[in-house]
Amino acid sequence: MTTEPAPDGQQQAPAPQRSLLRLLPAEMEELVVARLGEPRYRADQILHGLYRGFATKVDDISGLPAALRARLDADGYLVDVAEEAACSRSDDGLTTKLLLRLAGGTLVESVLMQYPGAGGSHPRSTVCVSTQAGCAMGCVFCATGQMGFERNLQAEEIVAQVIHFARLLRERGEHVTNVVFMGMGEPLANYSETIRAVRLLTDQRAFGLAQRSVTISTVGVIRGIDRLAEEGLQAGLAISLHAPNDALRQKLIPTAAPHSVRDLVSAARRYFRKTGRRVTFEYALIEGVNDMPELAGELGRVLRDTGAHVNLIPLNPTAGPFRRPSRERVLTFERALRAAGVNCTVRVERGAEIAAACGQLRTAAAAAVRKAPSARGPESPSGAPSPAPSRGR
Ligand code: SAH
Ligand code: SF4
Repeated sequence: MTTEPAPDGQQQAPAPQRSLLRLLPAEMEELVVARLGEPRYRADQILHGLYRGFATKVDDISGLPAALRARLDADGYLVDVAEEAACSRSDDGLTTKLLLRLAGGTLVESVLMQYPGAGGSHPRSTVCVSTQAGCAMGCVFCATGQMGFERNLQAEEIVAQVIHFARLLRERGEHVTNVVFMGMGEPLANYSETIRAVRLLTDQRAFGLAQRSVTISTVGVIRGIDRLAEEGLQAGLAISLHAPNDALRQKLIPTAAPHSVRDLVSAARRYFRKTGRRVTFEYALIEGVNDMPELAGELGRVLRDTGAHVNLIPLNPTAGPFRRPSRERVLTFERALRAAGVNCTVRVERGAEIAAACGQLRTAAAAAVRKAPSARGPESPSGAPSPAPSRGR
């Protein structure tokens, strides 16, 4: 944005920046009709430009009269764009993990996971978004948890991650089919921005995904789960449990004390009653810590009559001392849990050769910069961090 000298010779302050991508369709209409005095269909033109054309700036929104563009520009309206700072892709090309630079230089990770469609049909293309830079929950096995909390993301910054992938997919004639809130950060600790992002992604006049194609993963913020159940959304919910009892759970999630396993299971039941959507429990399997068959039995007793599904995620080792169990141990745990009457699946490992665990790409990029201060750092594609195993999300 340019600033012209004011008549009195002083620099005029630029208009505060405002995000067009943040506005829900009703708010866009309010801006266009009530504030700018334009006809209502201009709001649809802008929404179309943002969510069908994936415009990166106001000027790219086709069909708008020059005067309206100039007015939006002068009022400080812009389109949020996520910039690629580093990229790693699995050998099979199905998993792409990006380190994205947002406003103010904040770096977050987003991942695209593709699942080939049957008979040459379009693949399922799931984008995993971050909701915070860093995370305050401190899970001991999670690279994001170990880097601490930096800031909450705005809804438009969450949506910009999805649109970035949508733009890439469009070049191949493909599109985003699902979004999971399983990247960096705790979505329910950034509640209102997360919900705004879900609404933008699922409003048919905005990004237009089906609500059922969106899944929010939480470490278990009970108040947030109950609020979410009241939103009238059909979003899927995953609760990261990782242990059948509070003592073990609190070792893995040091901030878990206010949310007991029992209370979480009750919250999951309430969510199902209210939304009709069964909750998934996530369980990261860590060798010798929470992967013993007797713990599968205990978990079975806790979850047996909930109808819930358990997603077993063999740990993707990060810098910490924790290890991924052998395939044998994973299968033994799975069998024991099934025998205890609980539906479960082992998460398909995706892109094992890239750093697909949340927080790992950013951590590795930061380390690369520390090691080579004179290199261009994470923004250089050649400065992309070295591959690490995936936790297969
Ligand atoms: N904060 C939310 C969502 C982001 S984490 C949550 O915790 O649910 C998404 C999932 O990845 C969680 O189930 C989390 O426990 C899991 N996860 C984090 N680090 C992991 C690792 N190193 N290996 C396997 N799973 C991991
Ligand atoms: Fe935060 Fe989720 Fe990582 Fe725990 S697992 S530290 S809640 S991002």
